[in-house]
Amino acid sequence: MPADPAAEAARRRTFAIISHPDAGKTTLTESLLLAGGAIHLAGVVAARGQARRTKSDWMKIERERGISVSASVMTFEHAGLVFNLLDTPGHEDFSEDTYRTLTAADSAVMVLDAAKGIEPQTLKLFEVCRLRDIPITTFINKMDREAQDPFALLDEIHSKLAMDTAPMYWPAASGQRFAGMLDLVRDEFVPFRRLEAGEQGFASQERQRRGANNFLNGIADDVRAELEETSELARQGLPAFDINAFREGHLTPVYFGSALRRFGVLELLAGLAEHAPSPKAQKALIKGGAAEVAPSREDVTGFIFKIQANMDPKHRDRVGFFRICSGRFQRGMTLKTAAGKGFNVHNPLMFLAQEREIADEAFPGDVIGIPSHGGLRVGDSLSQSGDVVFQGIPNFAPEILKRVRVRDPLKQKHLRKALEALGEEGVTQVFKPVHGGDLVVGAVGALQFDVLDERMKAEYGLEVIFETSPYQAARWVSAESRADLEAFVDKSKAQMAEDVDNAPVYLGKSAWEIGYVQERNPKVRFSAAKERAA
Ligand code: GDP
Repeated sequence: MPADPAAEAARRRTFAIISHPDAGKTTLTESLLLAGGAIHLAGVVAARGQARRTKSDWMKIERERGISVSASVMTFEHAGLVFNLLDTPGHEDFSEDTYRTLTAADSAVMVLDAAKGIEPQTLKLFEVCRLRDIPITTFINKMDREAQDPFALLDEIHSKLAMDTAPMYWPAASGQRFAGMLDLVRDEFVPFRRLEAGEQGFASQERQRRGANNFLNGIADDVRAELEETSELARQGLPAFDINAFREGHLTPVYFGSALRRFGVLELLAGLAEHAPSPKAQKALIKGGAAEVAPSREDVTGFIFKIQANMDPKHRDRVGFFRICSGRFQRGMTLKTAAGKGFNVHNPLMFLAQEREIADEAFPGDVIGIPSHGGLRVGDSLSQSGDVVFQGIPNFAPEILKRVRVRDPLKQKHLRKALEALGEEGVTQVFKPVHGGDLVVGAVGALQFDVLDERMKAEYGLEVIFETSPYQAARWVSAESRADLEAFVDKSKAQMAEDVDNAPVYLGKSAWEIGYVQERNPKVRFSAAKERAA
């Protein structure tokens, strides 16, 4: 009997990790994959050596390039569940890629450095999660180092993120004195032990139940006294876990541990298994009417949240990352955009840890890679019926705009093509001024230009020059009536451009100017995000 999409969806946990650089996202990813049995690695020390080209190094390199290749999605099975971990590139200076990846996640794990608490990027990413009502599980990492007081950390989360914090565990000291953590729900102590050099597996030891002879045995008296006192305060003073408040994004369960020492990771994974949401119904338009697409819907539906070109530099292939929202996907199916464009998916890719494999079937919550030679766009909704358009997968207005030229004037056409390809992929946004002249490229962060520069060189052999543009902001424009829009476009020609889909975009010289123009043209909508129609 074929598997039932609703039952399969119920055992999916599709999540992303958000953090500030260096908080430990890569290390935690590795630890989770190890916990899920998706990878096997030698001990911590051996992993640093030559014996194994460490996965974290490899991921870092990709991250530094601003792209992640097969690491974009990692799937592993654990405790009867299928976990899909979506990789969000973690730059100081992050790109739309990160935002978009979060559109495909059902929940997020927020990793904090226990010594640093909430850092700027954590905050930005958190805001995206909030925008989308994505529930967040918190992992306070690096407890094996001197940490801030846990009350102070939770207080910071509470005040900066306006979210209740429910500690699931409570740490016994930190740094050299770190002794383990108390499970506040079951009232059991999980002792911490440092891994031996080269030791495989996890550092967790047998749990000690309150009342048993060994409870809190072997930890220093002062640490024990402190744990008993502070954990009691935490129990009384902080909210208890409430699944509804969590699912609605008002409360975050908090776990403690050390990704590097592989401590607390199994507990985090158990928490995700127990509480993190499985795929839920998604807002969509079906034949133009508002609707919800539940995972149980027979029609296979989903959307493209990322396009990766040139995964294999030898072939100019492109892979669209397709998040499935409903139905039972089977290899060979034809999926259609609402505009009627069909894609026959002969060779879908699945991402089992590091290996790309051909998928025979996939379910809601899963991500498959759809190879194509162009034609797919970020934000495209695909379905068997061709009737469904998902809502809310935006393109963000770039915050930095530059003019771009190619060093060799004979390669002007080439430049255009390459930029358009990278634009489709979402690496950058490309605007073509209506009046002609140099193309304008836009990015959400400055680092996107470095990535662009490097990729133009490496993949297209083009040396490009970015120059300051007179523009500081771009807004997609629309209006109820076509005539109103045309009138505006007509009189604003000098500052009008088109994006890759030929949608009209107003290029403003300053935020102030946009405000001014907006006021003078009340019938025109100026939008900082463009939602793709189909
Ligand atoms: P990312 O930038 O968030 O991916 O962070 P990484 O996973 O690359 O970690 C940044 C640094 O912190 C690396 O040197 C890690 O070895 C170190 N690190 C990560 N987790 C822990 C931890 O639990 N304890 C300690 N002491 N160091 C850690």
